[in-house]
Amino acid sequence: MKRIVIAGGGFVGLRVARLLAKRLAGSAHVILIDRQERFVFSPWLVDGLAGEMESDQYSEPYETAAKRGGFAFIRAEVKAIDRHAKVADVTKPDGSHEAVGYDVLVVCPGARPAYYGIEGAEQATRPFKTMAHVTELHEQLRELIHQARTATGEERKKLLHLMVIGGGPTGIETVFAMKTYLECHACSEAPALAKELRFTLIEGSPNLLNGFRPSISAGALRELERQGIEVKTSMRAKSISQGRITTESETLSGGLILWCGGVQPNDVSFTPDVSRDPKNTLKADQALGLGQDIFGGGDAVICLGANGKPAARTAQIAMLEAEALAANVVRYLKGQPLKPCYPALKGSLITLGDTGFIDTPWFAIKTKLTIPFRRWFYRFRFFQMTGR
Ligand SMILES: Cc1cc2nc3c(=O)[nH]c(=O)nc-3n(C[C@H](O)[C@H](O)[C@H](O)COP(=O)(O)OP(=O)(O)OC[C@H]3O[C@@H](n4cnc5c(N)ncnc54)[C@H](O)[C@@H]3O)c2cc1C
Repeated sequence: MKRIVIAGGGFVGLRVARLLAKRLAGSAHVILIDRQERFVFSPWLVDGLAGEMESDQYSEPYETAAKRGGFAFIRAEVKAIDRHAKVADVTKPDGSHEAVGYDVLVVCPGARPAYYGIEGAEQATRPFKTMAHVTELHEQLRELIHQARTATGEERKKLLHLMVIGGGPTGIETVFAMKTYLECHACSEAPALAKELRFTLIEGSPNLLNGFRPSISAGALRELERQGIEVKTSMRAKSISQGRITTESETLSGGLILWCGGVQPNDVSFTPDVSRDPKNTLKADQALGLGQDIFGGGDAVICLGANGKPAARTAQIAMLEAEALAANVVRYLKGQPLKPCYPALKGSLITLGDTGFIDTPWFAIKTKLTIPFRRWFYRFRFFQMTGR
C-alpha cells in the first residue's frame, strides 16, 4: 500500500484527504496531519464573531471527518521534511516526536498574519484566524463594555472605539461582525453604551477591496459609511502600541485593534529545500508539484492562475487546487502524465452588514439576498469539506 501523507488539514488538505481516500480506497493509506483538533470553516469565523453561529456549527473534529472519509488522522505539528529519507518529522501535543514515512507528500500548511515589519503590530493588535481568536475577542469585547460602564470622558470614548486594520474582504466582514456582536450581545445589559460605540476601518492603499472591480470598492465604502463605520484609506500605520495607531499624519486611540492586514505562509522546513519566493512562499510548478514525490497548494504555495499572476489566497482557490492536486496524485501513482492547473476565481460573495455583493466574472450586484445565498452556499461547501 502506498502511503500518502498530507501536512495541514485546511481547505486543501482536508479536501485532498477525502478525495484521495475515496479514489484510492484499497490501494493507498491516506494520513492527514494537523496541529489542531478541529477543521475550521474560516469564512464562517465572522458569523461566530458576530455571535450568530456556535463553534461546533462551523468546525468539525478531524477524528470524526477522518472516520467518515476513510483516512487516518494524526494530531501533530509537521516540523521538517527529510526528502532523502522521505520522512516527515512531527511533534505531538504531548511533546513526543514521530517520524512519519511517505511515498507521496502533500504540503498545505496555510498562512498566518503578516505584519510587514510595522513596529508593535504583532504585540499590540489581535489576530483573527482561529476559533480560539473568536473566544478571546468575545471575552475582550465584554471586558471593554464592562470597563466602559464605569469610565467617563476621554477614557470611555477610547474604550468604545474599535479599530480594524485591513480593507480586504476579511477586514470588512470582521468590522461588521464585531459591530453586530457588540450591539446585539455584549451591550444587551447596557443598551445606552451601544449608541456610543465607534468603529474605524483602516486601509493602507487608496481603495478598499483591492483586486475587485471599482464599482464594488466604491459600493463597499458607501455601505460601510451608511452603516456607521468610519473608513480611513491611504493610511499606513508607522507604529502601533496598546490601543494606539500612529501614522504619518495622525494618532488614533481605541479600546481594541484587530489585525486583518494580510498573511504570510506558515513554514515547514525541507532538507534539501524546495523552491521558494523571497517571501518564503513555496513555488509550485503548474501541476502543483514541489519536487520529487511532493505536491502542495493553498495559501502557503504560489501557483500561477490563468492570467499569469499568482492565484488568490482564498478558500475557493484552495478547493480548486485540491481537486487538481488529488487528480494529479492519482495520475502520478499510475505513472500517467500530470495535468496543469490554472485556478481562477469563479465569483465572490462579500457581506456588508445587512446587505452584500454577489460578484461574478460577468456582473456584480448589491443585494440583501447575498446573506441567505451565502448561508446556503457555505452550507454546501461545509458539506463538501467535512461530509456533514
Ligand atoms: C477570518 C477569515 C475569513 C475568511 N473568509 C474567506 C471567505 O469568505 N472566502 C474565501 O474564499 N476565503 C476566506 N478566507 C481565506 C481562506 O480561509 C484561506 O484562503 C484558506 O483557508 C486557505 O486554505 P489552506 O488549505 O491553504 O490553509 P488553511 O485552511 O489555513 O489550513 C492550513 C491548516 O494547516 C495546519 N497547519 C499549519 N502548519 C502546520 C504544521 N506545521 N503542521 C501541521 N499542521 C499545520 C493549520 O492548523 C490549518 O488547519 C478567510 C480567512 C480568514 C482567516
